[in-house]
Amino acid sequence: MERLKSLFPESFVNLVRDTDKNREKKGEERMKILFDASASEVLAFAAEELTAYLDRMLKEPEGMAIQIRLRSDSSAFPAGGNDSFRVRICVDGEDGGEIVGNNDRSVLLAVYDYLQYLGCRFLMPLRTCEIVPHIGREHLAAAYDKQASYFHRGVCIEGADSFENIMDYIAWLPKVGFNSFFLQFKSPYAFLHRWYSHERNPYAQEELYTQEDAQRDMVLLEQAAKKRGLLVHKAGHGWTGEVLGYQTVSWDTGAEPDEEQYRHRMALIGGKRELFHGIPANTNLCYHSEDAVDAFAALVTKYARENPYMDYLHVWLADTYNNLCECADCSKTTLSDQYVELLNEIDRRLTQEGLDTRIVFLLYQELLWPPEVSRLDNPDRFVLMFAPISRTFERSYELDGADVELPQFRRNQITLPVNLAENMAFLKAWQKIFPGSGFVYDYPLGRAHYGDLGYVHIARVLHADIQKLGEMGLDGYISCQELRAAFPNALPNYVMGHVLFQKDCPVEELIKDYYQSCYGDDAQRVLNYLSRLSELSSCDYVNGKGPRRSADMAERMEKAVRCCEAFAETTMRHRSSDGAFESVYWEVLEYHRNYVVLFARTLMSLAEGEQERADREWEVMREYICSNEEKYQPYLDVYRVLEVTQNYTGLHRSKSE
Ligand SMILES: [Zn+2]
Repeated sequence: MERLKSLFPESFVNLVRDTDKNREKKGEERMKILFDASASEVLAFAAEELTAYLDRMLKEPEGMAIQIRLRSDSSAFPAGGNDSFRVRICVDGEDGGEIVGNNDRSVLLAVYDYLQYLGCRFLMPLRTCEIVPHIGREHLAAAYDKQASYFHRGVCIEGADSFENIMDYIAWLPKVGFNSFFLQFKSPYAFLHRWYSHERNPYAQEELYTQEDAQRDMVLLEQAAKKRGLLVHKAGHGWTGEVLGYQTVSWDTGAEPDEEQYRHRMALIGGKRELFHGIPANTNLCYHSEDAVDAFAALVTKYARENPYMDYLHVWLADTYNNLCECADCSKTTLSDQYVELLNEIDRRLTQEGLDTRIVFLLYQELLWPPEVSRLDNPDRFVLMFAPISRTFERSYELDGADVELPQFRRNQITLPVNLAENMAFLKAWQKIFPGSGFVYDYPLGRAHYGDLGYVHIARVLHADIQKLGEMGLDGYISCQELRAAFPNALPNYVMGHVLFQKDCPVEELIKDYYQSCYGDDAQRVLNYLSRLSELSSCDYVNGKGPRRSADMAERMEKAVRCCEAFAETTMRHRSSDGAFESVYWEVLEYHRNYVVLFARTLMSLAEGEQERADREWEVMREYICSNEEKYQPYLDVYRVLEVTQNYTGLHRSKSE
């Protein structure tokens, strides 16, 4: 041990956590993870994780102890680079080598990457869905370097989520290469409240969940994110509601506390200043009103001052479109020009207070049209976020089409671009006037995925999209999505994390490996089956794009039902005589098979123009997933799929409901 000590600075401490009491008694140590005592909690956590996993993986004590150093050292990597690390592990002596990252988070990413190198697989955002193999000491050797392809690699919360769902998700993010997490609004109350109130599920007993509960939970969630070195994004929508005097942490309708006091700040639409459909988060302001701009900038500045740990602050306007102020002054300009002036005012105030908060501004809906006159005074403060919310998910981003001319901006009469080339044209137009960095904020696993019954198509679209980000002049991707999106499996999310980290990773191998890990010898058969379901389904149809009556869609859904029926034989082979499945992956696959039959029948009726029959079949599907939600809670977000099928697909509840 003396020889080893001399290898490391005095400040290095070691972490030994060996749960095998017998071995402790015998005084045998097989694993020590060393890290700088002055290091951050992120590095300490990385050491804890590496110790815990290796402890489970290594077989009986073999030979002498091995020591591995974890170090964060930016000088060992090119300056300003994305998350990077170096793994150098040897097994010849006691000095087991080191794992070095260009920042603390990179060390944790390296630890998880190394564990995958050793055979671990983090298949879903659940600790129970991990593969942790037993290996011998001789298998520990490794020598490789990695650098993330993109800077921004994250997920933004949507759907209905329990506290445990979110904690599990945060724990999973760095395991598959992500580095960012975004809790929308000033607290994630909306998403937690949806779960605890069991919105849309009559089988579950409503539980009380208050805004105070959300505040308390948010502190714990952010601690979990920070412990992993994740970049924390905050806020987004909600500012406009706050300017009008509402505490806006959801899309709920507002009681009208101080409406008269702030009525002059509201957008004038059709001659009236009032909440847009009663929802503060969806209400735009009269951005010509100096008082409204002053209140907005003051709120953002106060929030930035009070949340110094936050890495990115999102400043967005109302969450819907064709709701702009029609007053004479606002009508002389565009929303984007007014937005840029508002952002400049916020920047001036933050600068005055010495705050270096990075502000994320959003390109979507009316804001897709670039400003005509106004420009950001201090581009370094800002990060561009491009959100092609209305795009099709039938195909990946199209970059090689001829340049499309932007449609004219017409106040309160815009239609959103579905076409991918048009979406790209908006981005390019903004990039001409904004030289700073940016990322995509996209929705493959927020709505679109319910239209892909096999989850293979959406995984491939994601892969293709992410590969194109560099060409689009963007440095990353934040996925606005349901956190419970693992139905029939979490392949799309898994591919997203891995490809964002390494855009050239061989995706077909990744998919095969994922299926092999979940389904073993029948992996290829399952992949064929789910690929076929993907081919037959349509993200656009389920999301309300295109005519509801469609002979083609009806035929495809009929084939999907037959495809599921034929697959029953295979799932049954993985079920024992007492009804238990050999693994959770097979059990979820069988549950999914039954769901797809009910869903596809519903869609077939809808596509045949048989609305009433479709509504009745949808009710059967609802009964099935609501009554089973407790058992399959982490895999399918029942609230969200029902919200999408009602509000977008075009299915109706019976009048008695
Ligand atoms: Zn106005």
